[in-house]
Amino acid sequence: MNESKDFLHNIVDEDLKSGKYKKIITRFPPEPNGFPHIGHAKSICINFGIARDYNGHCNLRMDDTNPTKEDTSYVEALKDAVHWLGFDFGDNLYFTSNYFPKIYDYAVALIKMGKAYVDSLSEDEIREYRGSVTQPGKRSKYANRTILENLELFEKMKNGEFKDGVHVLRAKIDMSAANMKMRDPLLYRIRHANHFRTGDDWCIYPMYDFAHCLSDYVEGVSHSICTLEFENNRAIYDWVLDSLELEPPRPYQHEFARLNIDYTVMSKRKLLELVKGGIVSGWDDPRLPTIAGYKRRGYTPQSVLNFCDQIGVAKANSMVNVSQLEFCIRDDLNKKVPRALCVLEPLKVVIENYDGYEEIDAPYYQEDAPKRGSRKLPFSREIYIERSDFMENPPKNYFRLTPKQSVRLKHAYIISCKEVVKDSSGNILELKANYYPESKSGQDTSGIKVKSAIQWVSAKEAKKVEIRLYDRLFSCEIPEGIEDINPNSLKVIKDAFIEPAVIAQKPDERFQFERQGYFYADPIDYSDEKPVFNKIVGLKDSWNKKTKTTKHIQKDKALHVEGTVAPMSEEEKILFDRYTKELDLNDEISNTIARDKQLSDFYEEALSPDCNPASIANIIANEVARELKQTNKLKFNAKQISQLAKLVDDGTISNKISKQVFEEMVKTGENPVKIVQDKELTQINDPAKISAIIDEIIAKNPDNVSKFKAGNAKLLGFFVGQVLKATGGKANPKVVNNLVAKSLK
Ligand code: ATP
Ligand code: MG
Repeated sequence: MNESKDFLHNIVDEDLKSGKYKKIITRFPPEPNGFPHIGHAKSICINFGIARDYNGHCNLRMDDTNPTKEDTSYVEALKDAVHWLGFDFGDNLYFTSNYFPKIYDYAVALIKMGKAYVDSLSEDEIREYRGSVTQPGKRSKYANRTILENLELFEKMKNGEFKDGVHVLRAKIDMSAANMKMRDPLLYRIRHANHFRTGDDWCIYPMYDFAHCLSDYVEGVSHSICTLEFENNRAIYDWVLDSLELEPPRPYQHEFARLNIDYTVMSKRKLLELVKGGIVSGWDDPRLPTIAGYKRRGYTPQSVLNFCDQIGVAKANSMVNVSQLEFCIRDDLNKKVPRALCVLEPLKVVIENYDGYEEIDAPYYQEDAPKRGSRKLPFSREIYIERSDFMENPPKNYFRLTPKQSVRLKHAYIISCKEVVKDSSGNILELKANYYPESKSGQDTSGIKVKSAIQWVSAKEAKKVEIRLYDRLFSCEIPEGIEDINPNSLKVIKDAFIEPAVIAQKPDERFQFERQGYFYADPIDYSDEKPVFNKIVGLKDSWNKKTKTTKHIQKDKALHVEGTVAPMSEEEKILFDRYTKELDLNDEISNTIARDKQLSDFYEEALSPDCNPASIANIIANEVARELKQTNKLKFNAKQISQLAKLVDDGTISNKISKQVFEEMVKTGENPVKIVQDKELTQINDPAKISAIIDEIIAKNPDNVSKFKAGNAKLLGFFVGQVLKATGGKANPKVVNNLVAKSLK
């Protein structure tokens, strides 16, 4: 939940305080006439979220009052969406059609009270009689029918004695009401149609305005939350429940703003058009904003929940930028998913001075690398690299492979290009290259400087895969429908190559293909013979650059979404690209450094082959940037910063101590290695030394030890803190954590 409560939570708080309800019951009431979309997800989050926050429950109710459009496949899709988002309706799955007999009885009761009548005007006449915003309506002459007459007619309607449209049942309210909805609204209509649940039992069906409030009441709902377009229907909702003089408590309706997202259509009617028209492959087409589409594309439930939480609940309609949703996906996947190498448009490279075969151990994750696992990358004489990672005549600032510029193969060696092999029309067929045996990643003693590391796969061991790249389905901000389709929303690559370890994994796993984006094994089409991967989302937002969107997004909540600030210059963009794609920095740090000439120059100088580019970038974007703001003459230089980063990388000092070393560098300009030596700041990794300190602290705090053993798990933090303090922050926090946990067992 957000720290500040939304207006719906405030209403519930008040209702509980005043004793209006003892238990909070909400409902999510979709009509099963299409697959649920991201707008429904918002409604699900609100309704199930409130029920959860107040220990109540939320019903899933199918609002199935329109027999001609509904179907069980939609019911299943709705159930699935709720579960996928992590909510549980338990036994509380209901259908409005279950209440048809009850709702009928309530209609009879209204007739008996003289508050409803059978009208026999034609559809056109009813519309005409209703009047307009400026003109009061006129009541039908049939409104004068006696109660008995109405009861008889209504029963005959039910018994199927009339054709569709001959009669309707209407509430007798006020034909000159300012709120036009109150001008004798329709309660029932005749529809000779087969209903997917009640079959031919009924040929009259209640209208939304009548069925909805009564279903809420029957289920004991306390808060009936719907979207703003029902604001004017609230008066009918209240009128029906009050007129029937029902036993309290009764539910009340509250409205919130519908979710709208740019570049997206969200009405089920429009989505159905795309599905029926074959514009997309089905309701689960990965380009659709349906839950089924997201699921198939590889979006995570958590990212959709985060998005719903970020956009919040408001009372005013607004347009949310779709890049905010994409941000949430990226943000969720970034730390979670393993990395892998995949080449989409292969260019063969023959490494002429390499003959053997080896397997390179490469970590799956960049953070906490060894602990979270690794895989073997086959390396051999023939490899594929990305066609775009080689250029014969590169522009300035091209940092990848060229005839004159070497490049690192990620996790492996540095290569240089010896020869470009072409066909008769000048197309590049393959490259001949040399590798540098001394340049192996992690143990590089070659002294060769390269500006980037690229993905590659070993030609023989790599597996051919199909990759489906998705872009936005619509090319304009507020699309109407088929006419605004983006013709390039799907690109299929049939012969991409992927490292074998990825194939060995089970499906239902997500990967970051290095420098390409996040990918997911297509849950339907993937097979061992023909692996298919869907692109979930790119590594960064490529649309914000193409288009200048200044929509009224909820800026307060979306500030960290890239692209809402001044556009970057061409040069800054190239740098940003290099940082995010080649050096694998995150968007925020890349943005900070790319936009500041002093910082980017400093960074380029500090980059060093024997230390992680992200570690250096971290220090520069934070510490160095702060220092530069205060002074224009730094006492330390770029080389020293990379030395400092290396000390952290190889575990010589902890992150915390690195800040202390940096402060010293600011003051004295001294070399970080020397500072660490002089001040004896080396990280303590030795378990024996740390254990000795732990034993002392345990001995000094017998009370806390027994409290911990009695179940107060929070005290683990206390002990860890004490040990770190005792070592002046020098103990390796991970080692301390492990050992403390063991010692206290
Ligand atoms: P559509 O116009 O897409 O067909 P709907 O409102 O007719 O949507 P329902 O199945 O009647 O769809 O909606 C079920 C619930 O989901 C309702 O409470 C509705 O208010 C809510 N809902 C539908 N679309 C959105 C949206 N874009 N934002 C928030 N809530 C929505
Ligand atoms: Mg609807």
